[in-house]
Amino acid sequence: MEYKAFLIKYGEIGVKGKNRFRFEDALVTQMHYALDPVGEFKIRKESGRIFAEALGPYDYDEAVRALSCVFGISGFCPILVEESNDPGRITEVLTDYMDRRYDDLHFTFKVMVRRADKSYPMTSMELAAFLGEKLLDAFEDLKVDVHHPDVYVTVELREKVYIYTEEIPGPGGMPIGTNGKAMLLLSGGIDSPVAGTMISKRGVRIEAVYYHAPPYTSERARQKVIDLAWLMARYTGPIHLHVVNFTDIQMAIYEKCPHDELTIIMRRYMMKIAEHFARENDCLGLVTGESIGQVASQTMQSLYCTDAATTLPVFRPCIGMDKNDIIRLAEKYGTYETSILPYEDCCTIFVARHPVTKPRLDVIVRSEKKLAGCIDELVKEAIETEELIFIR
Ligand code: ATP
Ligand code: MG
Repeated sequence: MEYKAFLIKYGEIGVKGKNRFRFEDALVTQMHYALDPVGEFKIRKESGRIFAEALGPYDYDEAVRALSCVFGISGFCPILVEESNDPGRITEVLTDYMDRRYDDLHFTFKVMVRRADKSYPMTSMELAAFLGEKLLDAFEDLKVDVHHPDVYVTVELREKVYIYTEEIPGPGGMPIGTNGKAMLLLSGGIDSPVAGTMISKRGVRIEAVYYHAPPYTSERARQKVIDLAWLMARYTGPIHLHVVNFTDIQMAIYEKCPHDELTIIMRRYMMKIAEHFARENDCLGLVTGESIGQVASQTMQSLYCTDAATTLPVFRPCIGMDKNDIIRLAEKYGTYETSILPYEDCCTIFVARHPVTKPRLDVIVRSEKKLAGCIDELVKEAIETEELIFIR
């Protein structure tokens, strides 16, 4: 099937009034990011629409996959491009296309014509009726239904003629870069990649921080997180991934603090360090994959204590979701298979057998005082020795 171009439909960003051009420009930028590896495309805005026209050969399936990852696109139509606007020529192209595109033409249709060129000798209605009749002549199983057709056959007369009959659903949301930036705490689990992708669906660009604890966590565990970031980047755009060595902090907490409070204290230091990188990189919030009640460190009391470690807002897009709902999204966004690879996480190595489920902030803060002699230095060192990885 020879589709020379795609017509891009964008739902929500169409309603943004004066800011609309900003949203459209961000969408065009993201489309370039998605389509550049597929082939050479000219992407242009034309009266409330965006067209991506192929300038050379490209793989259709790859292009569809790429566009399906661009937030802000509500749907996209593969279109035929015809240079001549002669009704006879349009009829020829259209019947030939219908014949090839559909094995079985037992359905109802309606022809819709849009004319940008008002000097065209036929009105939109006239051309639609003309083309409808030609299709009925050519295919005896086709029927017209002007109210609820199975297929809309759309013909747009612009500088060229565009013909399309189907719309592939896009991922929805808003284009990346239209809603600021946030710092994702990215582990190798199922939830945080989903959380990061969900927040970027609302137009938020993300950076990420990953804490590892060599030699207790392996190089493979680190690589898994990098792989997850690559998978996410198809949707989120480029990610700066901060890899932070958390071993000494974890050891200090393990030696000095009550074991049933380990996870919560550890999580609080993760928040503090994430806040540092967030502020350094213009991020306006932190993002985690937490969901209420999933584990001891995610009870309401635990989340309260975790939040108190930072002055940034903490966004938790998975907060009210069941694990199965999160898994479904992980599958949809393509991170699930990698997330379930069985490599150790730094949190699972030092966990207590019976962690507190209802921590009290004053008690936790008192426990943390035991770290007074060393923790500032350890946090400083963890920050200074970060490894920054560019995912793009
Ligand atoms: P996930 O599947 O996202 O790992 P989880 O159910 O395993 O979630 P926890 O391990 O309790 O939950 O982690 C809760 C959240 O804390 C994670 O979603 C993530 O945002 C953050 N987090 C946990 N471990 C790390 C880590 N090693 N590096 C960065 N962030 C982490
Ligand atoms: Mg985890």
